[in-house]
Amino acid sequence: MGVPDEPQRQIPELDDFRAEATAFLDRVARPRRGGGTAPAWGEGDDRVSLFRGATEEEVQAAREWRRTVFDAGFGWITGPVELGGRGLPARYERAYLQIERGYETPSRSPLGVSLGMVGPTLQHFGSPEAVKRWLRAIYRGDSVGCQLFSEPDAGSDLAAVSTRATRRGDEWVINGQKVWTSGAHFSDVGLLLARTSPAPRHRNLTAFVIDMHAPGVEVRPLRQMTGGADFNEVFLNDVVVPDAYRLGEVDGGWKVALATLMHERGAIGGAAGGGNGLFRMERLVAMLHHLGRSTDPQVRQAYARVHAGVAAAKAMRERAEAAARAGGPPGSEMSLSKLALTENLAALAHLVGLALGPKLLADTGEWGTFAWSEFVLGVPGFRLGGGTDEIQRNIIAERVLGLPKEPAAAPNRSSTS
Ligand SMILES: Cc1cc2nc3c(=O)[nH]c(=O)nc-3n(C[C@H](O)[C@H](O)[C@H](O)COP(=O)(O)OP(=O)(O)OC[C@H]3O[C@@H](n4cnc5c(N)ncnc54)[C@H](O)[C@@H]3O)c2cc1C
Repeated sequence: MGVPDEPQRQIPELDDFRAEATAFLDRVARPRRGGGTAPAWGEGDDRVSLFRGATEEEVQAAREWRRTVFDAGFGWITGPVELGGRGLPARYERAYLQIERGYETPSRSPLGVSLGMVGPTLQHFGSPEAVKRWLRAIYRGDSVGCQLFSEPDAGSDLAAVSTRATRRGDEWVINGQKVWTSGAHFSDVGLLLARTSPAPRHRNLTAFVIDMHAPGVEVRPLRQMTGGADFNEVFLNDVVVPDAYRLGEVDGGWKVALATLMHERGAIGGAAGGGNGLFRMERLVAMLHHLGRSTDPQVRQAYARVHAGVAAAKAMRERAEAAARAGGPPGSEMSLSKLALTENLAALAHLVGLALGPKLLADTGEWGTFAWSEFVLGVPGFRLGGGTDEIQRNIIAERVLGLPKEPAAAPNRSSTS
């Protein structure tokens, strides 16, 4: 299963690659004012929401930007050449993303699950047929993927999923319900976990990729308290999936699920040190000066907490990346990064609450003030997504600190996004 190893190839010098990326971006995008640093106070879009509820136009723009970037050779820098990738090491991808941040480009967030989780899992576990059908399309933005793991009675306890896949010759028939599926309403392919046998927990699940437009797939959006509708319920009624779209072994889905969750925690935790722009210290400082709150001792203390938390998360992230570069698999540091993100988001929500006071609750029309309300309402969601904080703490306790496992009587826990 998966994509075969590539033969050794000549790779360009990193500086030449950077020059090529800069020339491409100069042609197709506008440089960001200040070269990727924070915009000045009062300048541009002041939205700072965590769950933006991407509009159709934003999804379309993200897809079109992917196509442009892919066709220029920067859309799948680490991917195998025979599938349209560039076959380069991860440091080239990091170099490209750093350069791209200096330009005005459509947000990548509508495609976050697709590129950060569905793509890598499919590449690792997919049959040649599934890889050929979906992988290039995902990285080019022609197809978008979502994660069909959580169910009404299976979240933290993911092994309890009850959606069933029943074998019928060369195909499977899927019946059940998923919930909290981010982006299902604009997705073309779903990474699904289903029960396939009466065997004991963790040995009775199989993973598939399914066509979200297939007969029997019904997507119903859920409205959240931030006002957006990023999540969905997905009902599966006699959905037929070819066996070639199975990921990994029959009843071996737990392994696939764990790999996906590690990719997910890595992708989410990557923002803990400031990856998504919310932790731009210059912008926060500008806000505190603007509001005349920068000399308040409580506000200063809250600011220091955010600053220290973000710096620590960044250092931890760099250490994890260095370990990954040295060939280590993603490990429990992903749980640490994810937990650091939610801690930093909570500290930031506390700071903006102290600084803005009533301006956080009532829209006065003043730039950069009420906009934070959407952010504050979104923070609790991050404590759940990617595995709840409690589950991350369990993982850290057991795998990093070596503390005793949860009592045997309790079921083994893991979690989805
Ligand atoms: C922003 C966001 C995006 C999401 N996107 C997706 C998606 O795209 N696809 C998808 O499949 N799912 C998605 N989810 C669902 C997410 O994976 C689940 O919400 C999460 O795994 C928790 O499951 P649950 O909601 O069923 O809560 P439960 O598992 O019922 O947990 C309830 C509470 O009990 C605590 N708890 C549970 N077990 C333990 C334990 N063993 N020890 C200590 N405390 C425990 C939890 O921490 C939590 O506080 C998303 C959720 C959010 C918030």
